[in-house]
Amino acid sequence: MSVSCFLILLLAAMMALAFRRSSLVLWTGTIVSILALVTILHVLSIAFFAFAWLVFLLIFLPLNILPLRRHLVSRRLLPVFEKAMPSMSDTEQQALEAGTTWWDAELFSGKPDWRTLLDHPAPTLSTEERAFLDGPVEELCARLDDWEINHTLHDLPPDVWACIKSNGFFGMIIPRRFGGLEFSAQAHSAVVMKVASRSIAAAVTVMVPNSLGPGQLLMNYGTKEQQNHYLPRLAKGEEVPCFALTSPWAGSDAAAMRDTGIVCKGEFDGKKDVLGIRLNWEKRYITLAPVATVLGLAFKLFDPDHLLGEEEDRGITLALIPTDTPGMEIGKRHMPLEQAFQNGPVTGHNVFIPVEWMIGGVDYAGQGWRMLMECLADGRSISLPSLSAGAGKLCARATGAYARIRRQFKTPIGRMEGVEEALARIAGNAYAIDAIRQVTATAVDQGEKPSVISAIAKYHCTERMRQVVNDAMDVFGGTAIIMGPLNLLARTYEAIPISITVEGANILTRSLIIFGQGIIRCHPYLLKEIQAASEKDKSAALRAFDHALFAHIGFMGSNKVRSLLLGLTGGRLARPPVTGPARRYAQHIERLSANLAFVSDMTLVILGGALKRKERLSARLGDVLAQLYIASAAIKSFETGGRLEEDIPYLQWTCEDALYRAWQGMDGFLRNFSNRWIGGLLRVIVFPLGKFCVPPSDALGHSLATSILEPGATRDRLTRGIYITHRSDDPLGRIEHAFEAVIAASEAERKRHRARKAGIVTTLDDEIAITALRKGNLINEEEEALLREAAQSVWQAIIVDSFDPDQL
Ligand SMILES: Cc1cc2nc3c(=O)[nH]c(=O)nc-3n(C[C@H](O)[C@H](O)[C@H](O)COP(=O)(O)OP(=O)(O)OC[C@H]3O[C@@H](n4cnc5c(N)ncnc54)[C@H](O)[C@@H]3O)c2cc1C
Repeated sequence: MSVSCFLILLLAAMMALAFRRSSLVLWTGTIVSILALVTILHVLSIAFFAFAWLVFLLIFLPLNILPLRRHLVSRRLLPVFEKAMPSMSDTEQQALEAGTTWWDAELFSGKPDWRTLLDHPAPTLSTEERAFLDGPVEELCARLDDWEINHTLHDLPPDVWACIKSNGFFGMIIPRRFGGLEFSAQAHSAVVMKVASRSIAAAVTVMVPNSLGPGQLLMNYGTKEQQNHYLPRLAKGEEVPCFALTSPWAGSDAAAMRDTGIVCKGEFDGKKDVLGIRLNWEKRYITLAPVATVLGLAFKLFDPDHLLGEEEDRGITLALIPTDTPGMEIGKRHMPLEQAFQNGPVTGHNVFIPVEWMIGGVDYAGQGWRMLMECLADGRSISLPSLSAGAGKLCARATGAYARIRRQFKTPIGRMEGVEEALARIAGNAYAIDAIRQVTATAVDQGEKPSVISAIAKYHCTERMRQVVNDAMDVFGGTAIIMGPLNLLARTYEAIPISITVEGANILTRSLIIFGQGIIRCHPYLLKEIQAASEKDKSAALRAFDHALFAHIGFMGSNKVRSLLLGLTGGRLARPPVTGPARRYAQHIERLSANLAFVSDMTLVILGGALKRKERLSARLGDVLAQLYIASAAIKSFETGGRLEEDIPYLQWTCEDALYRAWQGMDGFLRNFSNRWIGGLLRVIVFPLGKFCVPPSDALGHSLATSILEPGATRDRLTRGIYITHRSDDPLGRIEHAFEAVIAASEAERKRHRARKAGIVTTLDDEIAITALRKGNLINEEEEALLREAAQSVWQAIIVDSFDPDQL
């Protein structure tokens, strides 16, 4: 055996070990075996053996003898690591540590365990949840007139408020023992989605009390008395809650609020010397505030007289305050664009409250930020993803129908390639949003509080909603622009910037949160290293750091080899437990997962804490993670949806689109990496054969567009769960009605087309043309009726509102 054969054998063995992420014991055993075999067989010179064994001992002895390893390596690296870590405020630390990780951690691992995703059950609803959707939700939607709400009343009408309160819409997350509906996340999401497809203002009204706010905070931290008092009243709608965090000086950086509470003694309810808090605050943008009966308030608590304990600056604290408490000013309204959900400022001047009004009581003084961060994931996983799904499905259903009935240049506009391109994006994005929504809600139902995933879901659902609604507006043209009772889309269009801004503004979420929190929470070793570095007991710190560090080094090496080998084989070495049309996509996901893990680690090593300021780089790696989540959500949806043949184009479009965007994110990252040379080297490892992803083809786009231009099971499945009406005076109903009429008349329409081509009936006037066709016996009586109905309903569907000047 030549030296080169030996080296090739050794290299192959090492690559295989690294690729399979083998333990140190297996590494040591395998290398010893190879060296022993070569020694026994006497196939190499003595000098070379000796050299090979020496190198082996120099590397593997310290690796296996822990005290030696700690002394030689970890002891020296620990201070370097401590220095490189960015400084972190308490609030940042609490935000980073909140919630749980799930499939996001697998995607960050470079070798995802697909069972984590695939073993989650298919989304289901209980009989009661289904009955609620078919009963009270259907009834609520039927009552909603978005024009009346937003233009005429600037509020929900009294019967709608009553319907919301009496049916328990405000108590979807409240347990039954307190009189709530105790719905699953899946059902909660389905309710918001359906209402959002009818009226965004109504959906926001329903959504907010079920998201981060008094109800959820009380359930998690409230004292028995607080829970028993408030939860039944909130569930029945006897109390209307709002939650005030944002202030003029503190928006995205909410922890920088200037609102204060000073612990002191005062008079309350006729009693003197009551231990309480004197509050001063100025909050704005607070949803439901103008009609709220109870305000959840976040403020900074100070205890200068040490009435609660030793600490003077207690930190962010939460309290529940009835809105009729003296000193509170409430009732004015903001106008969030033209959306009429209730929103306004809330101020308080020297408001005195007893300490028992702090959520959780005195024990939770100063714990407010941690409480908020811990509860953020549930609501963020559901509210805006569901609202986006409602908007996306509405756009897909209505735009497909409209593009089929609206003719220009004697052709349905949906048959023109330019419009088809927009229709494909609408259909594909609606599918992607729904996949994210369902998979994320299922995770919440399984007990996860997925902080990083909830940020991904919020950001990417609302951004895709933005794309869907913009495309739909383009296809509808003037019909979507002219405001009035007949307009279907303009209010949804208006809702885009609102959904982009609330629950973590999108630019911040993309630039700072997704990757920033993802790398620390999802990385299997980084948080352990950080925790070890902050450990006070130095020898425990060294032990923990050493353990995490060497596991981390093995992890990096493995991801490097996996990146290279998966890159060279186009991902084919990956063995995801997925068969059929989704398999290749799952292999690409595994490949990009290895790329992400490897590049993230290299970036940490090179940039360290400076990465926090490199928001553009961080955002791009966050995009990679998020797009991998979206592609895997599509696979999960496809698998749990029964792997339907007709859904294959949707699976393909979503995966190809997401993988292409993931590739773009990685490519952009490498192109713009702070050091060009290192960026180039990383590129060789992650993209050894160059670009490997392409966006969905025109043929695939054609297939998606066609599926929403025709009635059928695919269109119905894509838009399942939204409110649908066929009333001809309704903005959606008139389009649905015309769509059905046009489809029913399509055979007769073909005859009319042939007659036009033959020069027999050329007039553009429907009435004259249909009469002439019948007279000439070119269509029968039934076809005449169908053509008349189609012409009439299309007219009803394309007309727009106009107003007398004095009405405006
Ligand atoms: C209709 C509506 C309803 C709301 N409801 C409530 C409510 O019920 N309760 C409540 O407490 N609050 C509520 N809010 C407030 C909402 O959460 C804030 O608007 C949001 O946090 C952003 O704050 P800001 O508007 O002051 O923007 P700013 O914080 O001024 O941000 C402006 C821009 O800068 C970006 N940005 C900021 N920091 C960074 C960074 N480090 N990196 C990158 N980009 C950054 C943001 O993404 C944003 O694009 C509501 C807001 C609206 C508009």
